[in-house]
Amino acid sequence: MPTRSRAATLLRLVHQQPGITRADAARTLGMGTGLIAELTARLTGQHLLSESPTAPSGARGRPTTALTAHPDGPLALAVVIAHEGWRVTAVELGGRTLGETAGSNHRSARSTLRAIAAAITANQEAFPDRIRAIAVSVPGTVGGTRVLQAPGLEWHGVELNQLCAGASCALPLLAGNDASFAALAEARRGAAATARTSLYLFIEAGLGGAVVDAGGVVGGANGLAGEFGHLPFGDRSRRCVCGAFGCWNTSLDAHSLARLRGEPDPKHAHEVTYVRGVLAAASAGVVPAIDAVEQVSAELGRGVAGLVNALDPEVVILGGFARDLLELGSRPLHDAYVAGLMSFRRGDPPSLIPARFDELAPGIGAAEQCFDLLLDDDQLSAWVMR
Ligand SMILES: [Zn+2]
Repeated sequence: MPTRSRAATLLRLVHQQPGITRADAARTLGMGTGLIAELTARLTGQHLLSESPTAPSGARGRPTTALTAHPDGPLALAVVIAHEGWRVTAVELGGRTLGETAGSNHRSARSTLRAIAAAITANQEAFPDRIRAIAVSVPGTVGGTRVLQAPGLEWHGVELNQLCAGASCALPLLAGNDASFAALAEARRGAAATARTSLYLFIEAGLGGAVVDAGGVVGGANGLAGEFGHLPFGDRSRRCVCGAFGCWNTSLDAHSLARLRGEPDPKHAHEVTYVRGVLAAASAGVVPAIDAVEQVSAELGRGVAGLVNALDPEVVILGGFARDLLELGSRPLHDAYVAGLMSFRRGDPPSLIPARFDELAPGIGAAEQCFDLLLDDDQLSAWVMR
């Protein structure tokens, strides 16, 4: 018995490869062209797919049609809460965004969430009956729909279900860590799209990441895996914001760069701006900045080697400031990486690849998580019966 209907399988393929021709879909799925034509006609009638004619390709090519999202089809709502602001984006099948609302963070979690709830309601009014799931990305540790700890936002124990208001309360509300969503985005549509197992690392205020295996994030027992910045790869005498001593973050963050440059410790609210400034100075050729960036790059490479030894990914994707370190401190990063690998790995180590999406990645991943849920037989039946 197939676990997923042919209709859901075809929709997943179109979501992955929007614009795929009916002929290619038939080949990819090993279905007859007659069956694909029949499924397409049904899904078009259900406002799930659209088809448009394409030019014939090659001498013996026959006209075929390209499959895309229906203009009145189901939408995912991706909510991204970042350190400096938030945005809410409606996303259709295939990943195209239809509208975005953005705002700055308020002083309290409650007022920020109230502003986001208003944006969700506005989207529901703009796309009546089309939004079918909401996913919220948070720069912190999330259990279920609760933000357990988001030090950059100073949010602790904040329940995200207060985002629902009126009709949106009936929708599935998913929540997750920004780096986990970004890892999913890179694995599905970005730099890790061809890898079965990838390790994604992202640095902003601290380092986070995720392992993606066979298309899904490895979440751990409680979905809390991926706090790689809190591995004890740092200086044991330094205390991390998480409360532990010797976290890897303490060798990679703004305070570490400031120590290396002999500058005063940047204030909490200015850490990200400080790192940006040092990276810009290094990029412009300022020698003390280059030295600091190269030392931090080596600390990153050393830790990546440990993770590769432990986790065996096919590729390592570096996002956020890690991508800048890969560019500006490439030599020390690679040298430390190779030196830290077990010798059998050194001949053909997993490549270190810059992330493709960066600040858009958490939203793309959040929408992917929604469509994983929506392109399922029960959810599709609910769409048809609505
Ligand atoms: Zn820590």
